[in-house]
Amino acid sequence: MSESERIVVGPVSAARGERATGLVQVHLGGEHVAVLPVVVVHGTRPGPRVAVTAGIHGAEYTSIAALREVVLALDPAEVSGAVVAVLTANPSAFAARSIYVNPVDHLNLNRQFPGDPAGTPTQRLAHWLTEHVIAGSDAFVDMHCGDMNEALVSFAGIENTGDAAVDARSRELADAYGLRYLLIGPSPGTTTTSAASLGIPAVLAEVGGQGRWPAEDVALHAAGFRRLLKAAGVLADAPETPRHETQVLPHEAWMRAAETGYWHPAVEVGQGVAAGAVVGEVRDAFGAVLERPSAPVDGVVIFLVTSLAMNAGDPLLALAGEEPNP
Ligand SMILES: [Zn+2]
Repeated sequence: MSESERIVVGPVSAARGERATGLVQVHLGGEHVAVLPVVVVHGTRPGPRVAVTAGIHGAEYTSIAALREVVLALDPAEVSGAVVAVLTANPSAFAARSIYVNPVDHLNLNRQFPGDPAGTPTQRLAHWLTEHVIAGSDAFVDMHCGDMNEALVSFAGIENTGDAAVDARSRELADAYGLRYLLIGPSPGTTTTSAASLGIPAVLAEVGGQGRWPAEDVALHAAGFRRLLKAAGVLADAPETPRHETQVLPHEAWMRAAETGYWHPAVEVGQGVAAGAVVGEVRDAFGAVLERPSAPVDGVVIFLVTSLAMNAGDPLLALAGEEPNP
């Protein structure tokens, strides 16, 4: 076998028919080093290369647990092509149990793609992941869930790049994942938007949240990812269940707090909300109402912040609907 037939990510190197695991040190400027757990499963037979990340947001445990479960169980003998997985892509955020941001520079990693090799630590990490994980793959998957402070309904997200072949392939892979809703970008600065702009079909997949990783959520995420691997041509078999019927909701509206205070939502995730309906209250420490936000559009509550603490500018929830926003 020639050296070029190895799949190499830093010190992690797998010849055909091998699985390799290891910790990859990524230098991010100054004293900052991210140590990423990487798995390369290089199949016995040729085929596509699927790259996958979890833990881009460090406190999204269902996605981290599901990716570990699937990838560590893959046998190179059942794989055509390869799977290149970063099991926890934002280790500083994971260690700090940080929501939204990398505590090193307080940036949201999933708003920094494709990254900057001369930027802040988070921007450099985004650049490294783009260059060493996403680029060169035939498909890319980014596994998420609601953050420590978020409940959500399961959904996949894809980008509308305008490249019909890429967009159709992303749609096929998202459909295979089999989650309740499908959202369609744009989502600037995200992994999947960056991948799609490189011509790589890409899927965001979201299941679970609130800092938990119950077995049923992990199973739903894991089964979806295995079905995606089958649709990508990597696996011959995938589980038939559990999966959902998928409803396409191409129009998304995020609602953010205007005031800092105590958040009392009046809606549940998965609930349909009509434009104008009050979705909750932000109150002060003594219970006085500071704001009573109402839905700007008709839509389904895709995710909902469930922490009592709320800060001005932070998300309250997101709505997604079949009709465009006015
Ligand atoms: Zn996330």
